[in-house]
Amino acid sequence: MDSNNRSPLSRRQVVGVVGAGAAAAAVGSARAQEPLAATAQPLTDPISKYPKPPFKQQSQPWPGLAGRMEPRPDHGEKSYKGSGRLAGRKALITGGDSGMGRAAAIAFAREGADVAINYHPDEEPDAREVVALIEQAGRKGLAIPGDLRDEKFCQDLVERAVQGLGGLDILVSNAGRQQAHASILDISSEQFDWTMKTNIYAPFWIIKAALPHLKPGSAIIATTSEQATDPTPDLYDYAQTKAATTNFVRSLGKQLASKGIRVNGVAPGPIWTPLQVSGGASIEKLEKFGAQTPFGRPGQPVELAGIYVQLASSENSYATGQVYGAAGGNGLP
Ligand code: NAD
Ligand code: MG
Repeated sequence: MDSNNRSPLSRRQVVGVVGAGAAAAAVGSARAQEPLAATAQPLTDPISKYPKPPFKQQSQPWPGLAGRMEPRPDHGEKSYKGSGRLAGRKALITGGDSGMGRAAAIAFAREGADVAINYHPDEEPDAREVVALIEQAGRKGLAIPGDLRDEKFCQDLVERAVQGLGGLDILVSNAGRQQAHASILDISSEQFDWTMKTNIYAPFWIIKAALPHLKPGSAIIATTSEQATDPTPDLYDYAQTKAATTNFVRSLGKQLASKGIRVNGVAPGPIWTPLQVSGGASIEKLEKFGAQTPFGRPGQPVELAGIYVQLASSENSYATGQVYGAAGGNGLP
């Protein structure tokens, strides 16, 4: 066809074409939504969604196993659905065998990330389940057991994660030590040191080792606690470590901003995890665990999984130095 014969489209035609396109797109998107509507999750009442007290009396030697808790905690094994929000990311999670760390590990893998987990050697049975779940999500799962109170191990941990995953862009500093004591007089220097080494020194060592590997866009997430701002009387040593954690989230958030590395924290309320049944709470407190919250029950680890994903995801790129809470209606993050 000769160019002279080409009649330029009239405005009405253009509008018509665009309009038809827009209409087609609208139909397309309506169609695309049909399967979503079909798979929509029913509204669930947060009050009745998970077990509430009274709980069966139980106690385990430290560090405790999720697999031996009654009822078993929900880390999202059957429920968490990913949508590619962390596709191709490489994450290291301390305390990734159970509790919030396990919920984050499952969610990260289902969002498309390869995940290395650290845990104490006594937690091998829980850790094996998590690695299997990561692999079932089609991602690489690395198990790196070891005691975080050892500086050299913390450095090795990061190196092994970086080698095994081929890099690192998400670090979740989540492992923690909590032992309840009615009085400060009951806390030996050894116990005090144990809590400080696990909760304050280990994140310091791990973050220092990880930093040279983290590129702009990477994220550091620390698990802090409502105890940071609203401590209970039986957690004298633990609560002050969480105040320190909340504080380093805020200082490092500012310090690393110029490197494009975001640092944020998650502040849980009472969550049903092995930490609580292995000395973290007294037997009396455990029986009515979570009853004091407005929801009247403890949280389950999976109920925080979405917060870890959000803080890791680049969709959340303007948030740094923040602490996000989930405490059943109580607490200040
Ligand atoms: P959890 O017992 O499932 O996880 C804690 C993990 O810390 C353990 O699984 C273990 O792997 C790791 N850990 C502890 N000491 C270690 C050591 N010396 N070496 C290696 N690993 C070690 O319990 P959780 O409640 O999911 O705890 C995760 C984080 O959440 C902790 O930082 C805890 O302080 C925090 N937190 C818990 C609650 C709660 O009610 N459960 C509330 C607020 C904050
Ligand atoms: Mg554990």
